[in-house]
Amino acid sequence: MSYLPNVLFALLLIGGVGFFVRNVKKLSRNISLGKDIDRSDRIADRWKHMAAIALGQSKMVRRPIAGLLHIIVYIGFIIINIEVLEIIIDGLFGTHRIFAFAGGFYNFLIGSFEILAFLVLLSVIIFWIRRMVLKLPRFWSKEMTSWPKNDALNILYFEVVLMGLFLLMNAADYGLQQMGAIHYVQAGSFPVSQFIASWLPENELTLFYIERGAWWLHIIGILIFLNYLYYSKHLHILLAFPNTFYANLEPQGRFDNLASVTKEVKLMMDPDADPYAVPEEGEEDEVGKFGASDVTDLSWVQLMNAYTCTECGRCSSVCPANQTGKELSPRAIMMKTRDRLEEVGRFIDKEGEVAFREKGDGKSLLDTISEAELWACTSCNACVTECPVSIDPLSIIMDMRRYLVMEQSAAPQELNLMMTNVENNGAPWQYSQMDRLNWKDE
Ligand code: SF4
Ligand code: SF4
Repeated sequence: MSYLPNVLFALLLIGGVGFFVRNVKKLSRNISLGKDIDRSDRIADRWKHMAAIALGQSKMVRRPIAGLLHIIVYIGFIIINIEVLEIIIDGLFGTHRIFAFAGGFYNFLIGSFEILAFLVLLSVIIFWIRRMVLKLPRFWSKEMTSWPKNDALNILYFEVVLMGLFLLMNAADYGLQQMGAIHYVQAGSFPVSQFIASWLPENELTLFYIERGAWWLHIIGILIFLNYLYYSKHLHILLAFPNTFYANLEPQGRFDNLASVTKEVKLMMDPDADPYAVPEEGEEDEVGKFGASDVTDLSWVQLMNAYTCTECGRCSSVCPANQTGKELSPRAIMMKTRDRLEEVGRFIDKEGEVAFREKGDGKSLLDTISEAELWACTSCNACVTECPVSIDPLSIIMDMRRYLVMEQSAAPQELNLMMTNVENNGAPWQYSQMDRLNWKDE
């Protein structure tokens, strides 16, 4: 019977971690629906990029207040993982404060956890005030209603509850230590929770129930939080690292060429090429699709971008198209891409990937991202520069535009005119090549 809590804890842990692993597999399956792209070059630069941006939070501090608060919450998250390790060992083996043997160092650790937990609480309150009282415009755009809005708030409330339980657990533990209760080893330093302890009843049994209750709720809360991540923008806690590692390191503004188009142009330029030649056996190219109309036409990095987006809206706040009232919001592009990918994932869960590849589900990304949004983009790269986790909304916009132009001939009239001019006159203007320099004589 005395092993019951340990067994219960083990079952809880297996259930919580098992569900998380199941969702991670689903996540990885969905990302791998994207096209292959080689990002295995410049490994040293990639490590540096990841260390500076994901680990060092270098882009977050461009907006100092939000950056500082975010760093506190981020360090709190890392620290809490060290504490969780102790909880897991204690839970499985029925020990209490198993790391207490570290003496002074343990005291220092617990003391710093408490100060951080307190700072996290303060940061979360300030985050809440910025969002709900000051109503910063980027948190109140039209794409930030229903689930995206609730998700952001849920996580703030989660943090408050988890940090509160942690401090309450320590406060009760401190009280029990003062009373010399059996099992409660004299360990830890409690710079914050000792004040909470003074508000608690001075009854050993009551304190025991408070400590155990807070301990259990704290670990259950952490497991719920872990599993909530998959459904939340807070997946960036995990994905920011691979996302920055596999980011596009090319200079901004350099676009890739479609291999099939390059080949076609080379053939056109080659005087010896026979445009009617039948390809030799085994050399036939599968006729690929130009650009992207759905998530499976995007690369796996673009799909990972969509899952990593924190919905912070920094991109949209600097987007000139968005600022001038156009329909485009780079944040919405990422959110719609993720929503569509999730929709495809659910279809595959039911019908299988083969069924999706063969007949699709009758929908596409173009059902939610409108042509008006796509053509509003000036390709200025401001969104890419601003994104704190190296997301590239522009690449998705460009791939979808390619589809509209090359597969649907659906470019706006002005662009069609410009492209016809380039084709006929070798320049975007309506003049013949001979007249191109006439302006200099005027
Ligand atoms: S590249 Fe396009 S989406 Fe990004 S900021 Fe510029 S206009 Fe907006
Ligand atoms: S793309 Fe980047 S900047 Fe834009 S909302 Fe997502 S995380 Fe924020």
